[in-house]
Amino acid sequence: MKIIPDVSILKKAVEEAHKRFVNIKDGKNADYIPYLAKVPPQLFGIVIVTVDGNVIEAGDSRFAFAIESISKVFNMALVMEDVGSLALRKKIGADPTGEPFNSVMAIELHRGKPLNPCVNAGAMATVSLVKASSESERWARILENMSGFAGRPLSLNEEVYKSEAATNQHNRGIAWLLDSYGYMYSGPMEACDVYTKGCSVDITAVDLATMGATLAAGGINPITKKRVITETHVSKILAEITMNGLYDSTGDWQYKVGLPGKSGVGGGILAVVPGILAIGVFSPPLDIFGNSVRGQLAAEYLSDTLKLNLFTKGGAREQ
Ligand code: GLU
Repeated sequence: MKIIPDVSILKKAVEEAHKRFVNIKDGKNADYIPYLAKVPPQLFGIVIVTVDGNVIEAGDSRFAFAIESISKVFNMALVMEDVGSLALRKKIGADPTGEPFNSVMAIELHRGKPLNPCVNAGAMATVSLVKASSESERWARILENMSGFAGRPLSLNEEVYKSEAATNQHNRGIAWLLDSYGYMYSGPMEACDVYTKGCSVDITAVDLATMGATLAAGGINPITKKRVITETHVSKILAEITMNGLYDSTGDWQYKVGLPGKSGVGGGILAVVPGILAIGVFSPPLDIFGNSVRGQLAAEYLSDTLKLNLFTKGGAREQ
């Protein structure tokens, strides 16, 4: 049986994590998307949401930030609902590319196959697989799906979207390249634009932890109690992000934290403890791989303190 730690223990751990790392100034905001460079770097919020719906938070847990790459997790979930997990794996894959998240070389090396939905190529191909008869329907379904995970209506941050759309020539190039290899299942510019909108959705650390807790709870949102995805898809999603969630330092993350996780260049990091809880951290300064510096420290501290690491004996509090 899985044992969920008491709220008092979680509260103490979250507050301590905030206190320990709040003054760390390492890392640098992403600046290749101009909007992200302007987000105040001192912001720092940590949230745990348990599968039974408790919300424990510290710091800037209600500050809205761009979900960025973490949207890839929920788009993947939607496509599993639409076409099944096997089709998604066959069309896109589940393996690390060994190259940066926006690598063109990785596409060339694998004759156009994106390899996984967590790199930009695979994420745009994933968006192209969402069942929709128009671009507006594709976008509406993506936003509605993410909102189901968050348990409240999320919205597009127009300023982030404009900033990204004006500077996403590289992603547009990737979308055309995939199309040339037959790995785009809608118009490539439609997929790229809807993917970019998905990255520009505003969330808070509370939303992020709730979205993760929905995965931890087997697909049922612990706050709204509504089923968002089929339970059998959850383990596939968690397997994907276990392998590919933290860019080119996913192995280092697993070494330290031992949990399925996903980060985004907006400064969000999610860690999922199946059957127990999820951790959502927001802190904009990133390391050289694109992962939030304080987000990783907080997740490692919480994983150690609360004995959440899945790879330890009795890991993730199995008793
Ligand atoms: N919108 C960003 C991009 O496509 C997301 C990147 C990320 O968070 O990894 O470059």
